[in-house]
Amino acid sequence: MQKVKLPKVIDPVKSANKRSEYSGVMSASDMPRWSEAVAGCNDVIHVEAKFEKDAQSLTLFHGTLDTSAQLICQRCNSLLEQTVHVDFCFTPVQGPDIDELELPEAYEPVEVDEHGEVNLLQLFEDELIISLPIVPLHAEDACTVTEDDMTFGKLKPEQERQNPFAVLQELKRDQE
Ligand SMILES: [Zn+2]
Repeated sequence: MQKVKLPKVIDPVKSANKRSEYSGVMSASDMPRWSEAVAGCNDVIHVEAKFEKDAQSLTLFHGTLDTSAQLICQRCNSLLEQTVHVDFCFTPVQGPDIDELELPEAYEPVEVDEHGEVNLLQLFEDELIISLPIVPLHAEDACTVTEDDMTFGKLKPEQERQNPFAVLQELKRDQE
């Protein structure tokens, strides 16, 4: 297994033919959308990824992303530390027929470009952003605003702000 900085762009079919396995890192400084989505973040994103063919010869790559970020608690407006863990399982698809493919439910289709490549950096950046809670909140006993403070004019955090990634989540949902 290679301990490496992960390639930003990869040909998943070639990688699956080589049965490539990566245990490496990506840098949050290469992910401006992710950095902007959070109040602060760990620069190191641990990535485990395995490329292979399944029993039906479908190419897939699966693995995990692990990092941490700081978010703003929507109840007390102070920082909270968020552990970020993503499990992914993608299968590369090409062209406009994605919807017609009958893919196993656990596989998320990801469209490759005209060179058969996937931009892993952007794909993983999307996954990190989607994994964030829509309304970040401290655990109740860790929050500086208590239930008692909230009995009058109770906050409705879900209405406080529009989540900028709701659209992305909709997109993701449509693909499933
Ligand atoms: Zn709080």
